[in-house]
Amino acid sequence: MSSKVYFTDLRASQTGNLLQKLERLVKKAGIEDIDFKEKFVALKIHFGEFGNVAYVRPNYAAVIVRIVKELGGKPFLTDSNTLYSGSRSNAIDHIHTAMVNGFNPIAVGCDVIIADGLRGKDERIVDIGGTYCPEPKIGAAIAEADIVLSITHFKGHEMAGFGGAIKNLGMGAGSVAGKLDMHSTAQPKVEDEKCIGCRICEKNCAHDAIHVTNKLAAINYDRCVGCGQCVALCKNEAAVMGSTESGEILNYKIAEYTKAVLKDKPNFHIAFIMNVSPECDCWGHNDAAIIPDLGIAASFDPVALDQACADLVNAAPVLRTENMLTEKEHSHHHECCCKEHSHHHENEAEECDAKTDKFHLLHPNTNWQAGLRYAEEIGIGTRKYELVRV
Ligand code: SF4
Ligand code: SF4
Repeated sequence: MSSKVYFTDLRASQTGNLLQKLERLVKKAGIEDIDFKEKFVALKIHFGEFGNVAYVRPNYAAVIVRIVKELGGKPFLTDSNTLYSGSRSNAIDHIHTAMVNGFNPIAVGCDVIIADGLRGKDERIVDIGGTYCPEPKIGAAIAEADIVLSITHFKGHEMAGFGGAIKNLGMGAGSVAGKLDMHSTAQPKVEDEKCIGCRICEKNCAHDAIHVTNKLAAINYDRCVGCGQCVALCKNEAAVMGSTESGEILNYKIAEYTKAVLKDKPNFHIAFIMNVSPECDCWGHNDAAIIPDLGIAASFDPVALDQACADLVNAAPVLRTENMLTEKEHSHHHECCCKEHSHHHENEAEECDAKTDKFHLLHPNTNWQAGLRYAEEIGIGTRKYELVRV
């Protein structure tokens, strides 16, 4: 059995702008089949760390809010607090960031509720008989909602490989204790020969777990919670994920949390394959996109949706403007046939890009395939999909 993933490209005209195309897409994908009447509808989104501008535009969220309201539902935009220092680690800062980034009632037509409350402690344990996380701790407002819709900015991710619907739902909806639970096995390490002792990691670690002595950073694992902030901020690839295995386990845990988030709830998922930046929107910056903007996809199946988005990104040509992927290809002497056969014309160069896994090139110690395989195994959805162009 395969799932349908609906996809619309970004061509637009006087008679069909992108907001109208989004509406057509989600209706074609069947959003109206959900009974929204008088139901609390959690729209799980990432409001963007302050300084990051790659997150989903509020204009798109407003379309979904309006549709849900027209169908009789009571929507609210939501996310849980973060583990690291930044502008979203408690509800006050988080709501303020959401408002500043445009997610205010005037722009989107509904309120913002931070799912795990003031200090990230409002949670509900949702038992799904998980192997890696026996007691998933989900932000209360999401756990108590009747329906969950996810609105995801699809991009690369330094710890999970890519950030798609499952990452948005599983890691995103976890309370602060839930996020600790998921990150606990994902420990970074410092590759000494690459460390220049710049102290960027030390200054940004919210847990006082990484210190530089004699121009060399070292991690105190008694304090490290595995949040990955040092990995994202180190410009010398000295702070890296500890091992592929810890990356895999992180993805298994995220999958189990996703199962808990969706348990017994009608759910529907939308992904924006635009501004495909190489790393998470949790950082206060977004590096240049690695591929051209592709479109918007929607499905009832978050596994199929993630697989389809990953395939679309991997099949897309790499942007030849400066970006992290071109830089990594260069520095890793990536063996690409485009380079070996410079006489190839453009189409062949595109085919050549299609053979590479961009997420693995960006973040070698991650394994997104393992995460999707496990998500399928535990019954969240299927990796087999039919792409329906709208
Ligand atoms: S940010 Fe990277 S290079 Fe700088 S001190 Fe930390 S590990 Fe070393
Ligand atoms: S050392 Fe790195 S991963 Fe560990 S808590 Fe600090 S920033 Fe997070």
